[in-house]
Amino acid sequence: MTAPEVPPADEVTQGWWAATTEHRLVVQSCGACDGVQHPPRALCIHCGSTERLGWRTASGTGTVDSFTVVHRAPRAGIEVPYVVARVRLDEGPILLTRLEGRDPGGEWVVDDRVRVAWADLPDGRALPVFHPVEGEPDRAQAPAAERQHRGLPA
Ligand SMILES: [Zn+2]
Repeated sequence: MTAPEVPPADEVTQGWWAATTEHRLVVQSCGACDGVQHPPRALCIHCGSTERLGWRTASGTGTVDSFTVVHRAPRAGIEVPYVVARVRLDEGPILLTRLEGRDPGGEWVVDDRVRVAWADLPDGRALPVFHPVEGEPDRAQAPAAERQHRGLPA
């Protein structure tokens, strides 16, 4: 992946970026209401607390919520095509990210199951990107597949 322009860490995002240096995906969590959120904010979007925000390690898996294929580079030096997506983490929050590991030209569909991978940045931080989870039936098909496995009518 071509190195993107990435904002520096600040007081609010520092914990998130620090976790990326260990290839650990975290979501911001609230000790007051147990809510989780992304991107990191100075207050909890669920209860408004500013005092008890921390970090929780995410499972790293999620579902493609929507995506688009970028064919025209936003600036020089970026390889196209690539896939920009909203991925809904299993914990709930949505990440704006990239999908990799498949032909950008048309193999992705909404609701594909994905797992985090990491694109290292020159400064030691890393960006989460998502790859397909192979061999895991998607949620819509899982019940039918399970019934077939048990020999019951679909
Ligand atoms: Zn809260």
